[in-house]
Amino acid sequence: MTNEDIFKKLIAHCKEYGFVFQSSEIYDGLSAVYDYGQYGVELKNNIKKYWWDSMVLLHENVVGIDTAIFMHPTVWKASGHVDAFNDPLIDNKESKKRYRADVLIEELLSKFDAKADKEVEKAKKKFGENFDETLFRQTNPRVVENLKKKEEINVRFVKALNDNNLSELKQIIIDNEIVCPVSGTKNWTDVRQFNLMFSTDMGAAADGALKIHLRPETAQGIFVNFLNVQKSGRMKIPFGIAQIGKAFRNEIVARQFIFRMREFEQMEMQFFVKPGEELFWFNKWKELRMKWHQALGMGNHKYRFHDHEKLAHYANAATDIEFEMPFGFKEVEGIHSRTDFDLAQHQQYSGKKITYFDPEQSESYIPYVIETSIGVDRMFLSIMAGAYCEEDVEGKDGSKETRVVLKLPPVLAPIKLAVLPLLKKDGLPELARKVIEKLKFDFNCQYDEKDSIGKRYRRQDAIGTPFCVTIDHQSLQDNSVTIRHRDSMEQERINIEMIEKIISEKISMKELFRSII
Ligand code: ATP
Repeated sequence: MTNEDIFKKLIAHCKEYGFVFQSSEIYDGLSAVYDYGQYGVELKNNIKKYWWDSMVLLHENVVGIDTAIFMHPTVWKASGHVDAFNDPLIDNKESKKRYRADVLIEELLSKFDAKADKEVEKAKKKFGENFDETLFRQTNPRVVENLKKKEEINVRFVKALNDNNLSELKQIIIDNEIVCPVSGTKNWTDVRQFNLMFSTDMGAAADGALKIHLRPETAQGIFVNFLNVQKSGRMKIPFGIAQIGKAFRNEIVARQFIFRMREFEQMEMQFFVKPGEELFWFNKWKELRMKWHQALGMGNHKYRFHDHEKLAHYANAATDIEFEMPFGFKEVEGIHSRTDFDLAQHQQYSGKKITYFDPEQSESYIPYVIETSIGVDRMFLSIMAGAYCEEDVEGKDGSKETRVVLKLPPVLAPIKLAVLPLLKKDGLPELARKVIEKLKFDFNCQYDEKDSIGKRYRRQDAIGTPFCVTIDHQSLQDNSVTIRHRDSMEQERINIEMIEKIISEKISMKELFRSII
């Protein structure tokens, strides 16, 4: 199965099992806008809780806020979004499809990497244990040539982006014969800038309405409240402010399901530090954030850092945490050292002094900022992509069957426990209900009595439920039940009183947190 097939299956699975639906589907949908279904919302809420608690519970110097989506229009002038929150757009004249010029070039660059990796893989197989990958990469003519070509294009690309040189971006596309994937032609328009902010009118009066933007990021709500939080919370530097909320971007190319949406949710934390200490904190948060991802147990090799070569003019370090999606390694989270740019801009535009008096140094300064910014939806996608498995298992009559199972980290799974009476009679449903009545205050339980036990297990596998408990006639006699573990499919007989303990241990966020501090 190709990665594309896997991705298609994942999208279909999200719909079939109530995780993600296209928005307004009965009206043929709205492009790049999605709704979360009954299981999707549980998973999403669990992701948000994992993030929120890891910020505000684990760090006594990080507090949370919740700011409005609508903000004063000048906020977006000060932040630079009115003038510079643009993507370079290019159209193909034949297919009439629209692309981001930078993404077309980035895709070309990754093809050179992929070609080099392919050569390495081939050689690895050929030479076995004696293979020296570093030496091979430095000396194999095909690898060297691919990487050299990539580097040449990359140097031109970075310079064009830094100089904001749109005609050079187009020239790179022409020179490298990048074609439209739909029409297959090089018939491109010029590259032009496109502002990604949505706007709307606030107020009823036709002439007095105020043009405002839907926030394209949650961070500005934090910056403009820096003084409020610092003073009311008597916060001492270094400290952080965390926020989870919706953001809106009129993305040019909105594809890849919930990877790039026009309405999405962010979890951002701005950490305010003393100037000069920012790189220490940048590295610290880099490490902490990677641990947070890896603690979920999806496989450490699925994550990597991608340090930025092109830094925004105000940043002095930036990296992305990428996850291996079915369509390659992609950014899930950005970590940026933003200097004092944001607070200084708001100080200038608002005319209000935004400084911090450092009692230890007896001096005032504008704090520097380290930002960690992660998309809830991208995180959701990475978890679903990492969890989706198709396994060959033995069916009832010994034949081969495929089981689709979501190997979600138990702590994030929407339903933790399914309680299944073996038969719909003899008092088994009543006992099953009693188990749920007892446990429903601790975690999300589901009752299911329809179809064979095998089918019920499959349904729970498909939504990622880590535990199924089966109630049978023996349960009525000796208070024992069968507990089935999702990933191993192993079953064990335990006393009913043990269910809570076994499950609580496996779904405990506390344990995860212990492993990341
Ligand atoms: P990209 O380069 O993919 O457009 P970005 O660098 O513009 O992303 P940031 O502005 O750093 O993204 O936003 C922080 C995080 O918000 C991203 O790492 C991502 O997880 C999430 N995010 C940004 N844009 C979108 C979107 N259109 N849909 C879903 N999530 C998004």
